[in-house]
Amino acid sequence: MLIVMNHNATQADIDTIVKTVQDMGFRAEPIPGSERTAIGVLGNHGYVDDTKILELPGVQRVIHVSKPYKLVSRDFHPEPTIVDVAGVKVGQGYRPVVVGGPCAVESEEQIVKTALFVKKCGGDMLRGGAYKPRTGPHTFQGLREEGLKLLAIAGRESGLPIVTEIMSPDNVGLVAEYADLMQVGARNMQNFDLLRELGRIRKPVLLKRGMSATVEEFLAAAEYILAEGNDQVILCERGIRTYETATRNTLDLSVVPLIKEMSHLPIMVDPSHATGKRSLVPPMTLAALVAGADGVLIEVHPEPEKALSDGPQSLTFSGFEQLMGDVGKLQTFLGNS
Ligand code: PEP
Ligand code: MN
Repeated sequence: MLIVMNHNATQADIDTIVKTVQDMGFRAEPIPGSERTAIGVLGNHGYVDDTKILELPGVQRVIHVSKPYKLVSRDFHPEPTIVDVAGVKVGQGYRPVVVGGPCAVESEEQIVKTALFVKKCGGDMLRGGAYKPRTGPHTFQGLREEGLKLLAIAGRESGLPIVTEIMSPDNVGLVAEYADLMQVGARNMQNFDLLRELGRIRKPVLLKRGMSATVEEFLAAAEYILAEGNDQVILCERGIRTYETATRNTLDLSVVPLIKEMSHLPIMVDPSHATGKRSLVPPMTLAALVAGADGVLIEVHPEPEKALSDGPQSLTFSGFEQLMGDVGKLQTFLGNS
């Protein structure tokens, strides 16, 4: 439930509401806005009788939210959330960011070379997996802690913030020492213990959409992180599984404007995992930006043919450079520069 106050409601009115809600056995969270304050009611498992609240001074109206998510919804929080990744701002009103890097960290030379190239082309952050969620156990699983150390070197040399995947709640502390943005992969979107743990730390989280997740399930997963107190969450559409097999996944671009209507959280797009095909990454990157994405996540590798994972979808350096040129022109055209 959301209690919307009049624009001239006083602090005393708000305090009275908070106390009343608490006396009813629920949590009350005031959400100040530019025009008025709203008060979110949390902890109820069903309909809450609002008669007592509607009689209190300063109350304009009560909205009953029957969705599995509240804290992530626009109803609760009309202002857009801006996520700060080591000084790089992501969200409405800021230029969309480009995160570039290989699928996996493979060697110091590979990651440092890529980091410097991403930086030179104007990229904003470096991606690279140290812990890889591979479909089968006999393939490259990532360099793990050694990979994190190599990411730290590449981050220092390039000055780029680091985005890397976290797979297990047990590893949150370790990965948080190295990552500026903690990525939750599609396969872990509903790893609720991991989401709760990420809600308790003070590091931004990049939550990817599960490959068969509905938008409601996606937002409900983000709610787990916010419910623990961390609102620094960026959502990421990375393609969903459909009957179509010509592309690795089906890029559901319509969720970009849809999620902007439903939630205040920024949304990025990963055209690499969405398409699985190098030639499709540039056009889908541009399409994502036109749709209003707050950023894109692009796989790029110095030698994609030798990559230990996701080579076929990784851009070459020259492909990435060309794409960054096109992104720059598009940003100017869109007025985002
Ligand atoms: C990745 O970013 O390398 C990755 C494994 O992505 P996803 O979880 O979207 O498959
Ligand atoms: Mn990958």
